[in-house]
Amino acid sequence: MADYDYDMITIGGGSGGVRASRFSAQRYGKKTAVIENMRIGGTCVMRGCVPKKLLVYGAHFAEDFEDAAGFGWDVGASKHHWPKLMAAKRKELDRLEDVYHRLLREAGVDEITGTGKIVDAHTVEVEGKTYTAEHILVATGGWPTLPDVPGIEHAITSNEALDLEDLPDRIVIVGGGYIAVEFAGIFNALGADVTIIIRAENVLRGFDQTMRDALRDELHKKGIKVLSECQVKSIEKSDSGYSLRLDQVDFLEADLVMYATGRAPNTKGIGLEETGVKMDKNGAIIVDGYSKTSVDSIYAIGDVTDRIQLTPVALAEGMALAHTLFGGHPTSVEYDNVPSAVFSMPPISTVGMTETQAREKHDVAIYQSRFRPMKHTLSGREEHSVMKLIVDKKTDKILGAHMMGADAPEIIQGIGIAVKAGATKADFDHTIGIHPTAAEEFVTMREPLRDEDG
Ligand code: NDP
Repeated sequence: MADYDYDMITIGGGSGGVRASRFSAQRYGKKTAVIENMRIGGTCVMRGCVPKKLLVYGAHFAEDFEDAAGFGWDVGASKHHWPKLMAAKRKELDRLEDVYHRLLREAGVDEITGTGKIVDAHTVEVEGKTYTAEHILVATGGWPTLPDVPGIEHAITSNEALDLEDLPDRIVIVGGGYIAVEFAGIFNALGADVTIIIRAENVLRGFDQTMRDALRDELHKKGIKVLSECQVKSIEKSDSGYSLRLDQVDFLEADLVMYATGRAPNTKGIGLEETGVKMDKNGAIIVDGYSKTSVDSIYAIGDVTDRIQLTPVALAEGMALAHTLFGGHPTSVEYDNVPSAVFSMPPISTVGMTETQAREKHDVAIYQSRFRPMKHTLSGREEHSVMKLIVDKKTDKILGAHMMGADAPEIIQGIGIAVKAGATKADFDHTIGIHPTAAEEFVTMREPLRDEDG
């Protein structure tokens, strides 16, 4: 280290980069710096998970006010003020940004503002000034991608959707992944007319089929239109907003067109090619099990490596890297049984394999429960919850647990521990339920839904 300015310099102050730098400084007493050219906190805190979840909370009140009537409440005419929600959200992000600055300062991590460019295996340049480090960490995250469609310049992405001045009446969302269904729920609940356009037959490709079908039903009940197996041919500015030409129907008019068609790693223009850091065909940095790139002193974590694009995974990669580089114990992250959630309305949460994945390698039993939550017996809302356990018949182990319904992410986080610990269906059966909850269904499903041998 004596010859370098830093033990580690990190390009990118998002969840992964901040965690790796802070942890290396605090736990191992290393001299570290973070380079950031936007706001500290990165995608999750500034343009993703955090503001999105605040909007989901805000949007859910629309249903809560309606539901309250069934319990004797007269809440009068409720009216939402989008600009007030935006103002409150901005204030909270400012607060979080300050918290991040303070945490870095207290950990002794230097913050460098600007765009970092790798000059050689141990040198990074920022706005004309060079810094040397024994290790360089690339944690530059990802950015929304837009397909090459005529008029695509009229479309916004989640970045802008989180900061709209006003909520337009008619919104078209192209894509059917996490971001698309989450924003569809927010916009719809707050009063917009929402249409989702997907090229596949259903939303959330890669998720368990039962959950996909269940969510589609719920979207339909809420009045969110899903145009499936449909492609946008062009987007034109029209008198009343935008006119989308589709391959299925002639035209669709909208006031706002949002694309949520995936994200690409931020690897351009930061000196990776020049330094010999290898990337895959999508531009993601190729790393080994310890986040090391093809250049010995350069490491990469988080979305820029496109392993699993989730904040907690980037955090785990950042901590593992600190242990590996400075703790004397090489540590890798386990990528199996990573729980995740889609904050659609209602949300979906999942851990482990889908039924399709499980059937490829195992003889499985499926336990499933579909029910109307107790709350909605009085609220009158026609919303259902679905829970599903996928069990390996040979070992009795739980291979996958899935839920769509209120509180699914909170419930699956706990189930995730059990699945990670290798729990069996018998363990679930021996667990006493908490009554009356929805979660207790996970420990009271006795009869397999489909048992191909039985
Ligand atoms: P996803 O990869 O989840 O979904 C992309 C969607 O866009 C798919 O429906 C895909 O269709 C569609 N698509 C891709 N290319 C085109 C195209 N050219 N024309 C039309 N449709 C297209 O991406 P998101 O943008 O929703 O999210 C990015 C990542 O961010 C996620 O993978 C997730 O890891 C992370 N994230 C996580 C969240 C959470 O944990 N709650 C929340 C938000 C994001 P098809 O299915 O046919 O391929």
